[in-house]
Amino acid sequence: MRLNPHFSKFQEDYVYVTIQEKVEAFKQTNPQANILDLGIGDVSRPLAPGIVTAIQQAADDQLKMETFHGYGPKGGYSFLIEKILTNDYLDKGIHLNEKEIFISDGSKSDGAHIQDLFDDNVKIAVVDPFYPVYIDSNVMAGRAGEYDCKTRRWSQLIYLDANESNDFISDIPNEVVDVIYLNYPNNPTGKAINKDDLQRFVNYANENNALIVFDAAYEAFIQTDAMLHSIYECDGAKKCAIELKSFSKSAGFTGLRLGYMVIPEELAYDGQSLNQLWARREATKFNGASYIIQKAGAAVYEAATQKNLRENIQHYLTNAKRVKGALEGLGMQVYGGEDAPYLWLKSPKEQSSWEFFDDLFNKYQIISTPGSAYGANGEQFVRLSMFASDTVITELLQRLTK
Ligand code: PLP
Repeated sequence: MRLNPHFSKFQEDYVYVTIQEKVEAFKQTNPQANILDLGIGDVSRPLAPGIVTAIQQAADDQLKMETFHGYGPKGGYSFLIEKILTNDYLDKGIHLNEKEIFISDGSKSDGAHIQDLFDDNVKIAVVDPFYPVYIDSNVMAGRAGEYDCKTRRWSQLIYLDANESNDFISDIPNEVVDVIYLNYPNNPTGKAINKDDLQRFVNYANENNALIVFDAAYEAFIQTDAMLHSIYECDGAKKCAIELKSFSKSAGFTGLRLGYMVIPEELAYDGQSLNQLWARREATKFNGASYIIQKAGAAVYEAATQKNLRENIQHYLTNAKRVKGALEGLGMQVYGGEDAPYLWLKSPKEQSSWEFFDDLFNKYQIISTPGSAYGANGEQFVRLSMFASDTVITELLQRLTK
C-alpha cells in the first residue's frame, strides 16, 4: 500500500509537541516549578448552567421511545438553525435561509474540509500569520507544492503579509488567486477587521471569481463598534464568501464540539452551486453533530445563557487588558487583546520566536506559543492565550510586576 506522499513534506513536529518536550525537560531539573500555561487556546471557565441543563434534558429525551433521536436531519436540526438565523444574522440585517447553514462539529473540521470542493490546481492565498489548518489541509491534499526551509513558505501558496507596518491587516493579492482564507478576529494577532478593509477583499474576490473562506471563530469577542461580525456585512459577499462559526470560544464548547458553516445559495463557480456540492460532500462524509450537542447549542441563545457567556467573554478580555498593561509596563510591544482573547507579543530583542519563547519560559515559567508556528511573519513574536484560569492570570501578573 502506498501512502499519501504529501505528509512527508511536513518539516516540523506539531508545535505543541515540541513545547511539551521542553516543559518536560525543565520539570526534570525543576520538579517544584509552577509553570503557567498560556500556550494552547483552550477555554478555562466551565459551561453556563443553561447549557448543562439542555444537555441533561436532551439526554433524558434519548431514554424514551417518543423523544429518542437517531440520525439527525442533513445540515442540522431546525431548532438550532432557526436560532442561528435569527440571532447571529437577522439581528445584523443579514438574511439567510435554513439551507444555507450547515451544522458541524466545529470550525477546525470545516476549515480543513472545505478544500474537498477545490480543484487540485487552485491558487490559494493565506494571510501570514495564519491559523495553520488552512495550509496543512491543503498540503495533505497536494496543493501547496514544496516547502522552502529558508523562507518557511510553500512554493505554490500566495502569502499576504500582515505585520506591524500594515497594522496586521494585509493587502489584497496583487495577482489572481482562486481562494483566500481570512480569519478575523485573528488568531494569533488578536486583530479584528473593519468594513473598508474587508470590503476590499470582497471586491477583489468578486472581480477575480475567487472564493473567500472567512473564519469568524472569535466573532463573539468583538468590542470595537467599527469591527465586522460577519463577512456578509460587506456588499456582494454572498456571491464570493463562505463563513465559519464556532461555539468553542464563544460558548465554551471546545470539549462539546459544535460549529457551523454558511454557504449562500448564490455562491457558484463554473455554473455549480457550492451549497449543493457541500451538501453532497456532507452526505458522503459526515453524519452530523449529535442531537444532544445541538440542543446544547440552541440553549446558547437563551437570554440567561447569553448573559453568562457575555460575562465569560468579558472575563477573558479583562485578563487580556490586565496582562497587556503589565507587559507594556515592562516596556514590551503588545498587540491584540481588545477584540480577541490573544495577545501578540513582540520580542524586545529581535530574537527568533523560539528564543523569545525560551526567554519567557526561563524567566517567568510561562508557556507561550512561538509565533513561527503561524508563519514567517510570526518570527520575533509569541502568542499568549488569555483563556487561562484566574489562578494562572493572578500568578502571572504577580510575576510580571514583581
Ligand atoms: N478557527 C480558528 C481561527 C481557531 O483559532 C480555532 C481554534 O483554535 C478554530 C477555528 C477551531 O475551532 P473549533 O474548536 O470550532 O474546531
